[in-house]
Amino acid sequence: MPFIDRCHGCPYQGKAIGPHGNPGSPIILVGEAPGSTEIVEGEPFVGRAGDILRKALAEAGLVEADLFITNSVACQPRPVHLWVRAIDACRGRVVRDIEAFPRAVVVTLGATAFRAVTGQRGFRMSDVRGRSVESNWGPVVPTLHPARVRRVRRERRYLVEDLALARRIASSSDGAWTR
Ligand code: URA
Repeated sequence: MPFIDRCHGCPYQGKAIGPHGNPGSPIILVGEAPGSTEIVEGEPFVGRAGDILRKALAEAGLVEADLFITNSVACQPRPVHLWVRAIDACRGRVVRDIEAFPRAVVVTLGATAFRAVTGQRGFRMSDVRGRSVESNWGPVVPTLHPARVRRVRRERRYLVEDLALARRIASSSDGAWTR
């Protein structure tokens, strides 16, 4: 069972689900936390939210295997009331995942990921999505979490649009990304 060590101050200390995909990808996607399916399968985004994400990626012209996907919190968030402490404790690991290779763009899936990556609070996703914002790691494209899109189907197009924006940013960056 993969456990991530050095989780100082994290209340969860559970089975950590590591990132997945191409570690050197110029596009890194940051989700929220693994659910029950991810804990069993040992990979992020393999449950229902993952199905939605994969379809949206394909519509946006992105191939999942070319991307690097990680989560804001590596363990299943239980008990839920300790969630905020876990986000803060896990932030160093997210930063390491981002910084491991040069990234053209960081895509944050949902409010938790946007907060974990940028440190911003008190925003509404409807206000921040749809454009890129600058961060210590270059452009961040905030978009909706696939689980949100599952509940609110009419917002699905925003997820696709934002992923397409990330693809355009990566394509026009200096790296070798040509898709
Ligand atoms: N699965 C993940 O790995 N992360 C999420 O944010 C949701 C589902």
